[in-house]
Amino acid sequence: MMLKVTSAADVTSAHIDLDVDAVIIGSGAGGAVMAYELAAAGKSVVVLEAGSYVPSTQFNETFPDMLELLYEEKGNQATKQGDLLVLQGRCLGGSTVVNGCVTFRVPDFILEKWGKEYGLTNLTPEILSPYFEKVERNLSIHINQPHEINENSRKLEAGARALGWSVKPLSRNIKDCALTGHCLSGCKTDRKQSMLVTYLPWACHHGAQIFTDTFAARIVTENGRAKGVQATMVDPVTKHKVADINVKAKVVIAAAGAVQTPLLFLRSEIANSSEQVGRNFACHPSTMIVAQFAQDIFTWRGAMLGVYVDEFEHPDKGGFVLEGGGAGPIELGMSTEPGTGKAYLDFMSRAKNYASCISLIHDHNVGRVSLVDGEKQIDYQIADADFPAMKAAFKAAAKIYFAAGAERVFLPTGDKRVIESEEQIDTVVDGIENHPFALRMVSYHPQGTMRMGSDPAKSVVNPYGETHDVKGLFVCDASLFPTSIIVNPQESVYALSNYIADRILEDANDYFA
Ligand SMILES: Cc1cc2nc3c(=O)[nH]c(=O)nc-3n(C[C@H](O)[C@H](O)[C@H](O)COP(=O)(O)OP(=O)(O)OC[C@H]3O[C@@H](n4cnc5c(N)ncnc54)[C@H](O)[C@@H]3O)c2cc1C
Repeated sequence: MMLKVTSAADVTSAHIDLDVDAVIIGSGAGGAVMAYELAAAGKSVVVLEAGSYVPSTQFNETFPDMLELLYEEKGNQATKQGDLLVLQGRCLGGSTVVNGCVTFRVPDFILEKWGKEYGLTNLTPEILSPYFEKVERNLSIHINQPHEINENSRKLEAGARALGWSVKPLSRNIKDCALTGHCLSGCKTDRKQSMLVTYLPWACHHGAQIFTDTFAARIVTENGRAKGVQATMVDPVTKHKVADINVKAKVVIAAAGAVQTPLLFLRSEIANSSEQVGRNFACHPSTMIVAQFAQDIFTWRGAMLGVYVDEFEHPDKGGFVLEGGGAGPIELGMSTEPGTGKAYLDFMSRAKNYASCISLIHDHNVGRVSLVDGEKQIDYQIADADFPAMKAAFKAAAKIYFAAGAERVFLPTGDKRVIESEEQIDTVVDGIENHPFALRMVSYHPQGTMRMGSDPAKSVVNPYGETHDVKGLFVCDASLFPTSIIVNPQESVYALSNYIADRILEDANDYFA
């Protein structure tokens, strides 16, 4: 199916005026599903995407090049404190183009919590299950088959099994995986079922119009109702403005992701009577733990993510998961070896002997995204209450690796910490204190800044995705999650976006009259 896109290079007029049923800001997980569902129901739809259209023929499997081409701030988006990178895609298809393909449904115990604490009694596993099933069908989501579990993941699996801990193959949205391990650089063979090769072309087939290089600056409202969006199209090479784009729409849907959606609302000065816009930022701060084995592993060979340890997933059991994730020698070193002199050379010379896994924790929503002098600021420091989960994850990973026969384990700390034997695990890990730069962390999963809930005083968006304050203004991206969900979020964003699309269409007479 054809992906039809209007980019800066295609535009000759300095002003573009559009009048449609729905305008969607952002073309990632939330935006693409919304675009398809509304367009397939016969609505006229415009998608505005700040990033460029980068066809997969330009993906070259060289990570530094792809960080520049496909990621927000060329991969350098960080918190104000500077100790946490917040990675997001900035291209047509958003973060789905660069993500690791892992898929999970939001855990039932999280939905239960959302029902009890945030009034989201509509989001039960029974109600959401058809949405998850549909997305799973549409995106070829399947449990990793034996050939998709590489030697790296087999070490995690063997160690967890030896300890009697629950370990399972991951599910992924990929068709006939080529096992190259380059997911985070974009899938050049289009096997990853990202939005670029699925929902966006499907939306175009039903008439959706897509404008890339187009940054939505403000949402326009009138008498408490959404009316449209003002956007600017910028040439990605010269950085010069090419056109102003004004979209008049009956429904406005924000899907710019958990960092940019709140900024869009703050710039527009709307829907913030709760003063919660930009607050409650969570991000699953993630680390990589590396273990050295006597035999060859080549962690970067094969499917990037194979199995995960879910033994500690529930907050009562620790609130973290470990996923067998491969990485190239440079990334292994960046996580665990400060990088100078003989120690660094020794570390790198043994690159083929390492296994690695990533930890994700169920963090509290303590962060904030705000505009400071008109500029984006992300404030987030791992809460003291969350630090024990981080340390418990290190201990569990180290135990697993020693049970699988590791010779030593390298921790993802700012200063170098190596565990030489199982007996040393507790002492070495207990010595880590929570302060900036104590850990080498990355976030792949920003969420929570436009909290969904039934109480307008405590949330921005109601249980059906519409803002409490402005009629016809919806949010359908990862910013909706009222709490972190521990597991990788893309599938939950797809399902929630489809759920919200259906609610909009159910009330079509009201919204599209
Ligand atoms: C490196 C990496 C690996 C990941 N791995 C996994 C994984 O394995 N499994 C998983 O479940 N999740 C993974 N994720 C996370 C997952 O991809 C995201 O949670 C999901 O895509 C979020 O969807 P979204 O719609 O909120 O935002 P996004 O998919 O990020 O889309 C937001 C879009 O909005 C655009 N935008 C922003 N501001 C504006 C504006 N003002 N105007 C117009 N457009 C704008 C952006 O350019 C972007 O294209 C990963 C993410 C990254 C970065």
